[in-house]
Parts: sequence; C-alpha cells; structure tokens
Amino acid sequence: MKQQELLRRLPSVDEVLKSPRGAGWLDAHPKRYVLQAVREVIAFKRMEILAGGTPDVSPDAVATDVELRIERLTAKRLRPVINATGVVIHTNLGRAPLPPDVLRNVVEVARGYSNLEYDLDSGTRGERYDHVRWILREITGAEDALVVNNNAAAVLLCLSTLARGREVVVSRGELIEIGGAFRIPDVMLQSGAVLREVGTTNKTNLGDYEGAVDRERTALLLKIHQSNYRVIGFTEDVPIGELVGLGRREGVPVMFDLGSGCLTDLRPYGIHDEPLVHDVVGAGVDIVTFSGDKLLGGPQAGIIVGRKDLTDRIAAHPLARAVRVDKLTLAALESTLLCHADPEKAKEKIPVLRTLLQGEEAIRRRAKRIMLLLKRSLGDAEVSVEQDESQAGGGALPGVSLPTYVVTLKVRGVSARHIEQSLRRGPVGVIARIKSGRVVFDARTIRDSEVKPLVQAVREAAG
Ligand SMILES: *Cc1c(COP(=O)(O)O)cnc(C)c1O
Repeated sequence: MKQQELLRRLPSVDEVLKSPRGAGWLDAHPKRYVLQAVREVIAFKRMEILAGGTPDVSPDAVATDVELRIERLTAKRLRPVINATGVVIHTNLGRAPLPPDVLRNVVEVARGYSNLEYDLDSGTRGERYDHVRWILREITGAEDALVVNNNAAAVLLCLSTLARGREVVVSRGELIEIGGAFRIPDVMLQSGAVLREVGTTNKTNLGDYEGAVDRERTALLLKIHQSNYRVIGFTEDVPIGELVGLGRREGVPVMFDLGSGCLTDLRPYGIHDEPLVHDVVGAGVDIVTFSGDKLLGGPQAGIIVGRKDLTDRIAAHPLARAVRVDKLTLAALESTLLCHADPEKAKEKIPVLRTLLQGEEAIRRRAKRIMLLLKRSLGDAEVSVEQDESQAGGGALPGVSLPTYVVTLKVRGVSARHIEQSLRRGPVGVIARIKSGRVVFDARTIRDSEVKPLVQAVREAAG
C-alpha cells in the first residue's frame, strides 16, 4: 500500500474513541490516559509510515494497541510480588503479609463509617486507642497501651515525652542503626534528650549504669534490643531485671525498645534470643516499644505498652497527634492481636509465623513441586533442589539460621542476570536471587498458590 494511502486510512483520535471498543475505555479509565494512549498510538503509527513502514492501521489493530497502552499507563505502581528470597520479614517487600480474617476486618471497617473515636455506650466522643488497648493489656500483661504509626515514631515519641532536656543512659553496645537512617543517637538528638553512653561496644555491666545515673539529670535507662546484629565473643550486657532493679532504687524509669516485639514463644523451635513482650513487661520494665509488622505479623504500627502514668503523658504529647494511627491500621491490628490471643492458632493463622515455623518437609515438597513444573516447562534447563538457609529479616533473629530448600535454575544460552531481571520487571514480579551463576528461589516464602504463576513467569523470562 502506498504511503499516502496508509496515512489517509490512519484513523483520527475521534474515530478511535467512537469505535465500538472505544466506548468502554472512558467508562473504565481516566479520560486523560485514554486520550494520551490514543494520541500516542496514532502518532507512533504515523511515524512508522513516514519512515517507510507498513503498520496495520485497521480499527481493530489500532484498538488493540490502544488497550495495551492504556493498561501500561494505568497499571498500579504499588503491586503484589512473589517473594522468592526466603527472607520472611522483608522490609523492602512490605514486611508482614496479613491473614485473610484481618483483611476482611479492614474492608468491613473501612467501607463505611466506624466508631473510631465514638463511644457507642455513652454516645459521646471516644478514644481511638481504646479499640486495641484492652487486648494489648491482656496479651502483654501491661497496665496500659498506645499505638502510633511505626516503632521509630514510638521511640521518638517516648523519648520526647519522657526525656527532653535530660539524660538517657544507653549501653555503647546498643547504639544501633536499624536501617533507613534510623540511628539511636540521631533519634535521641531529635527528641531533645541527651545521650549518656556507658560501657564499651562489647561489654557493659551494672556498675557502668550505676556510675551514670543521677536522680536529677537522668530521665530514663534505655535498653535496645540488638535486632539486626549480634556481638559475640568476649561480651557482657546487663539483664533487664537488673536494670529494672537499678531503676527502682534510683527512681528512674526503664524503657526497652524491643524492635520486633515477639508475642509467641519461639524457644520450642530452637529460637532463643528473642525476648517475649510479656516477659519484659513482667520483669517490671516501665515502657516497652515494638513494631506491629515484624514478628507480630500485623500492619505497620508502633506499639507502646507500660505504666499508665507514663503512657498518659505520652498520649498527651503534641507529637502523638502527628504520628497517630489511622482506622485501617487499627482494624488490622485489632484482628491480628485477636489471632495472638490463642498462641497455637496464631502460628497457623499469621503468615509471618507460619512461614517462619513451617516444617522443613513442607518446604522441601514445595521446592520439589516447583522443580518438576520448571523441568516440564523448560525442557533442557538445569533445575535442582538444594538445602540452604533462609533469614527471618526485618530486624529479627539475626544469626538464627532457618534450614530451607531452594530451587536453583540454569538455562542454557540465557544468563541468570537476564532471568532474574526479567522476573523482577515482568507482569507478576518475582524477586529471586543469584548464586554462582544460577537463579535461586527459596521455597520458604513462596506460597502454594504462587507456584503456578511463578513457573509461568520463569518460562516467559527464560524464553
Ligand atoms: C525495627 C526496629 C525499629 C523501627 O521500627 P519500625 O516499625 O520499622 O519503625 C526500632 N528499634 C528497633 C530495635 C528495631 O528493631
């Protein structure tokens, strides 16, 4: 066909919009993206023609291209991915997946109005924290509880309220960075508290704390859980009970930033160094802070539990308003905590716990299934199942190795880098890693329902 003829046949924006398939686009998508897509497709075809090409300019072909383009333009930027890294609490991948019951509750509450700050008994203004206060008190044994946006905010708020302009005593072995620029000395500065470091990197004893405490100057004794690292070898730190004893003698409150905030006893599973919130509260710590989306397995949140006279002051601080949680978080947190009320069921219901504690045999079976499906769909690829170790991640259980099974893949003529990248960028979004020139999929964090989409994605990425 002649160039002139093709150009003449190329439909106008109006014609495309009025075509039979075009009618639905404006109903389903924002007008600006529909128009943009139509204009771009026509302009692209025109360019092709002028360059000597012969693109299909039939109404159907144009409509198909426009639909693809609209899909691209309106695709969600934030979307689900398959976590094949084996890192259970992966901050970059959204930390804790939520249980179906919890999601249902979020939808129920968020769909319409709720009693977020309304007391249904008295018909007067209520408190948003009341919805989770009772269950947090029950589960942790604390006198009172408060919830803010995340644990970083919880720590900042507690320090700002309890220690502005006064000293906070911290061991040099606990001056941590969590990642994302959350460093204890910086948070301290931001809160207006004065950091009083004691001890050394590897050893801090009670005498170090005693030497630094002063009834006038000291606002808090602060202990911070070594969430994402371990100091091993010639080490010493002060058990929380002894710190509480010192605090009592000197009339100084003790605060413990637990980070992960474990509600489930993991000792039967060989995981020993994650303190239970209940035990820490029971040891007499005055204020305890922890995350909602680490080992607790719920929504992003910062939970503060402890002495009521202190939590009352914390709740009244102006910063509390700035870091307050919304109804979606509260709805998710309340139902996650309800799952924790029965520790045995929690291990089944809460994805973080289930993924962490699942038996090796179940992981091995899933890995084998993935291997078989990959072999079947990839023909002559080298696929095998190997033993490996997964990580808990998210500032929990450093140094704890979780035995797992991984599927490793090598496809002749296609580099591992290419497959890994195509998987990441593809429509499903599979996050895998590379080890010794092979793509590695850790079966621990892959859900059974994700096996088929994963295999399909690999087939496309390796093709
Ligand atoms: C993870 C962590 C934090 C920060 O908690 P977020 O919920 O991520 O804000 C603070 N302190 C410790 C010890 C942590 O492990």
